[in-house]
Amino acid sequence: MKNMKIIFIVIMVILIGYESGMTIVDSMKTNGSLLNRISDNTELVWNGPRDKKVIAITFDDGPHPRYTPKILNLLKKYDVKATFFVLGKHVSFYPEPLKRIKSEGHEIGNHTYSHVDVKKIPSRKIEEEFNKTQEKIYEVIKEKPKIFRPPFGSYNKYLKELAKKHNVKIILWSSSQDCKDWSNPGVKKIANTVIDNVGNGDIILLHDYVNTTSQTYEALKIILPELKRRGYKFVTVSELIENKGYEDEMKIIEN
Ligand SMILES: [Zn+2]
Repeated sequence: MKNMKIIFIVIMVILIGYESGMTIVDSMKTNGSLLNRISDNTELVWNGPRDKKVIAITFDDGPHPRYTPKILNLLKKYDVKATFFVLGKHVSFYPEPLKRIKSEGHEIGNHTYSHVDVKKIPSRKIEEEFNKTQEKIYEVIKEKPKIFRPPFGSYNKYLKELAKKHNVKIILWSSSQDCKDWSNPGVKKIANTVIDNVGNGDIILLHDYVNTTSQTYEALKIILPELKRRGYKFVTVSELIENKGYEDEMKIIEN
């Protein structure tokens, strides 16, 4: 009888060990698919993969003749590719800076027509704002964006459905990369917030249009050379989330 008890305990230990082993394997599989989801299925994106020194710098609320061309000059000087989330209404007023953004190899995203908070308007109106902006952008550059950033980072269930329906990804930003440049906190403050908190895969939020005098351009003169010196590679948002140029490393992790 005592022997039976010992055998029973041994069997139980083996079974429990097997079970927890399976759990580890399962969680590894989950992590693998998490990486896949960054590139394929996620409607909401806050950052890219964390395993490479690759980042995406983004500019909202333009295009605008006051600052967009100056920022484009700087990006060219430092050979940096960026992403611009534009307002449909600004595209209507200022198509030229948008053409230049496109011709210099940057990515363009939809940021609604008139900077609406999607949580505060009816769903029908959200789609109208989205479509009108896609069309305005298409009129100018003959291409429709594949990425959308809702103003204020607001989203709801309807917005996710809309993104799925139109096959666009909703792009937000890394939580440590919101320096609030639009509030003019000071050139050094903007630059330090970006530089001190930067990490692999970050999506950095900046603005190429603000209602007042902007400090972003001056801050960029500090940010761009410093991040390049630290070895960061700047890519567009789509390149970041589609793992372009570093697919091999991603495969190694998944295996
Ligand atoms: Zn905005």
